[in-house]
Order: sequence, then C-alpha cells, then structure tokens
Amino acid sequence: LMQLFRPLDMLGWVYRSIRQGLIDMADMFRLLDTTMEVEDAPGAPALIVRRPTVTFEDVSFGYEKDRRILHGLSFEAPAGASVALVGPSGAGKSTIGRLLFRFYDPWEGRICVDGQDIAKVTQQSLRAMIGIVPQDSVLFNETIGYNIAYGRDEPAPDDVRLAARDAAILPFIEAMPQKFGTQVGERGLKLSGGEKQRVAIARTLLKDPPILLLDEATSALDSRTEQDILATLKRVSANRTTIAIAHRLSTIADADIINVMDAGRIVEQGKHTQLLRLNGLYAEMWNRQQNEEDETVAAE
Ligand code: ATP
Repeated sequence: LMQLFRPLDMLGWVYRSIRQGLIDMADMFRLLDTTMEVEDAPGAPALIVRRPTVTFEDVSFGYEKDRRILHGLSFEAPAGASVALVGPSGAGKSTIGRLLFRFYDPWEGRICVDGQDIAKVTQQSLRAMIGIVPQDSVLFNETIGYNIAYGRDEPAPDDVRLAARDAAILPFIEAMPQKFGTQVGERGLKLSGGEKQRVAIARTLLKDPPILLLDEATSALDSRTEQDILATLKRVSANRTTIAIAHRLSTIADADIINVMDAGRIVEQGKHTQLLRLNGLYAEMWNRQQNEEDETVAAE
C-alpha cells in the first residue's frame, strides 16, 4: 500500500510547489527522474568532456507512440559555438533541449557530446556538463545566497559572490541590508522577472558547465532589461557551447549557426544574413517580427 501512496504524496508536493512558484526546473527534472523510464545502462561510464561538441544524428522522437515529433533531425553545435534553434510554436525546439538533458531517449538516431552517445553514459555525468537558464526561473523561499548556491555542495562564499558579480546582480544584492542573507520568495523580497533570471544565471555560473542551454523567455521583459540580460548571457556563453531556443529572432541574429525548425524538421540552416538571402521561413519570420516591433514602437 505504501507504494501506492508514495507517488501520490510526491504529486501533492509537486502541486504545492508549483502553486507556490517555488520549484526550480532542474529540480522538477530531478524529481521526474525517479519516475522516468530512462535509466543508466548497467556499468555505464561517466561522460568525459574535453571538447564540448554536441551532435544530433538523425534523431527521431515522439512523446506518444503514434505521434512522431522530430523527424530524423541532424545538427551540430561545435565546441564553443553558439547555435540557435528557432521556428514556429510546436516545431520541437524545447523537445531538443529535453532530449539533450536526456529526459527521454530518441526513438532513432543518437545524440553525442564529445563523440560519446549520451544514452550510454551516466545521466548524472551528462547533466553535470549542461547548465540550463530556463524561461521562467522560480526561486525557493530561502535567502538569495541559498538560491544562487542551490545544487552546489557548500560553495565558497567568494565563488558565490563572483557568480553574482558575473550575472550582474551583485550591486542589487549588496544594496540590501542583509545582502546574501536576504530572504526571497513569498515571505521575503519579491524579485522582478529580470532579477530572477539573473539569479538563474548566477546559479549556472557557479556550476560552470561547458554546455549551456538557454530557453528564451516568452514572457517579455522590458526591452532595456532584456538588452542587459542578453549582454550578460553573451559574456556567460563565451567559451562555452551554447544552444539557444529563441522566439524573438533579434536575440539570436548573431549566433554562429541558426537552425530553423518547422514541424520537427530543420528546414533552413545558416547565419542570419545567409538565411535572409534564402528568402524562406526565416526571412518571413524576421520580416514579420520587424514589423511587429515597428508597430510596438509606434504605439509607445
Ligand atoms: P514553443 O515555441 O511553443 O515553445 P517548441 O518548438 O518548443 O514550441 P515543443 O515544446 O518541443 O515545441 O513541442 C513540440 C510538439 O511536441 C508539440 O506538438 C507539443 O504538443 C508536443 N509535446 C511537447 N511536450 C509534450 C509532452 N510532454 N507530451 C506530449 N506531447 C508533447
């Protein structure tokens, strides 16, 4: 009977946490781990990363048996490069992120990091190599220091400080009387969307992973904050392999490689100027978004 209750218990916990907006995406993933069918192969070795190249090779995948979402998709993120995934809603961009973090295994094809099939190494070693900056970071009802250090084993206070500095949130923290000891969340300080995102960036910096997965916010920050965050992310992604899922093309126009997805396939690939010249889906999306921005400016 206990076996029946345990999952129910956990669901209750998940529900309460989500309601309180306290659960962190990575935490959610960790929790799902326990119920997920993805398991380490017996005796699986740890992933060893010298050059953090990420490759998707003919990957097909669906969440449900009869509904294929990704259709034989291939792309490479060379070590240190910034690669963007763009395309209409439902194209499969976030699914790629979930497969890279190995919440699911592909139906066909394989995903490699530095030449090693991620299905054959331990999940823990894989996830240690990937930092996620999610769309909506939610924080714990804890101190801001705890929230930055979350997931690390007692990091040195200097390292936490450095991470906060590089995420450009240090001045904000130091302006408060209790500094890193300031409570955030429901019973403490409410952070703005941009500040929360900076906490997530600081957390990622402390983890210092060679691969970054950026999931761009759909909820718009004001454009000044967005520009600031983008500049921070650009600094943070230098020397790391970065895969950015983007809705607004202006945020990824300078990526080394842009993969344009539609209905589970990569339909165009290249740099911004090349893609504009193609005059296809990317150019169409770009023109539409430029017009929308012009309209917003006109309305202001
Ligand atoms: P958006 O830009 O709207 O975030 P996306 O390109 O990231 O979209 P995905 O989230 O990867 O798209 O979804 C691709 C397809 O997979 C969609 O049709 C979606 O309905 C489906 N899908 C996503 N998650 C699940 C899930 N957990 N179970 C079943 N289907 C899912």
